[in-house]
Amino acid sequence: MSVLRLSRRPHIADNISVSFEFFPPKNEDMENRLWDTVTRLGALEPEFVSVTYGAGGSTRERTVRTVKRILTETDLVPAAHLTCIDASREEVDAVVRDFASLGVKRFVALRGDPAEGTGASYRPHDDGYQNAASLVAGLKAFADFDITVSAYPEKHPESPDFATDIDMLKRKVDNGATRAITQFFFDNDLFENYVERVRRAGIYIPIIPGVLPIHNFTQVANFAARCGTHVPDWLAERFDGLERDPQTHALVAAAVAAEQVLDLVERGTQNFHFYTMNRSDLAFAICHLIGIRGGSRGLSQDNQAA
Ligand code: FAD
Repeated sequence: MSVLRLSRRPHIADNISVSFEFFPPKNEDMENRLWDTVTRLGALEPEFVSVTYGAGGSTRERTVRTVKRILTETDLVPAAHLTCIDASREEVDAVVRDFASLGVKRFVALRGDPAEGTGASYRPHDDGYQNAASLVAGLKAFADFDITVSAYPEKHPESPDFATDIDMLKRKVDNGATRAITQFFFDNDLFENYVERVRRAGIYIPIIPGVLPIHNFTQVANFAARCGTHVPDWLAERFDGLERDPQTHALVAAAVAAEQVLDLVERGTQNFHFYTMNRSDLAFAICHLIGIRGGSRGLSQDNQAA
């Protein structure tokens, strides 16, 4: 079984890099929890940490504040998520100027979704960036930012087919995106097939798997249904009956996430993005398993001394 085989490899971390995603906290308690998480995961020396931008720009101030705190109080490299939905170009550009004045050099550029509960479908703003590809072009026109975009191993739910979906990715790359992070998924074959399709379309940027450790299976299954992420039967079975057993749920979640990540390592994946949900436990444990320890990057004592 892959878990056992890989756990005996001494230097898995040598070529592996990780990034962590956080969301901006709503209150002081959440802020404290986020900061504990940033401190713990930050010690693992991620390539960058990203901060989401709430649906329809609803967390604009909080996102800016969180990114500012990361920049001023840590050595971490922040990437600011930015969406163009429900905003004019002028409004989006003003946010970009705010971030740039703080020293932000990385963005995760997205179209965004209509605010939850409105039931509306996406409609570009009359004076706005029309989609994520045009937002990438706008950011690049502003400065030579490092731009990450989204990718969908199971295609975006609004895309009629994979060809349309990958065409959008191509447009984002042509406009200057240099890496893509995927929607979360649980079936590694789907990811592998997707990367093959992307390469066949002549897209060569890194496609980084977005890994969602399962802190609450019921919530994740509901979220997956909205995102078009397939929840395999075997996964549902593993969490079956654990709704009121948080300890076993956490152990199973760690095993499932470890299995997914180690299998991806075995398939040659070198970069991982973790949707942390502002919690460090599972992401930290998985990083430990693949040898990411911070500082020495998991090297043995002998190698450190060399
Ligand atoms: P795009 O890349 O523009 O499009 C994705 C796909 O949808 C394309 O294939 C395209 O063909 C298809 N498509 C787009 N528009 C249409 C349309 N009108 N009709 C038919 N097909 C269409 N959301 C947030 O609000 N804030 C965040 O911080 C955030 N971070 C994210 C980070 C990652 C890594 C990912 C994967 C998603 C994130 N999202 C975030 C969610 C994202 O905003 C939604 O998935 C949104 O629906 C699409 O945005 P996009 O930039 O991926 O779209």
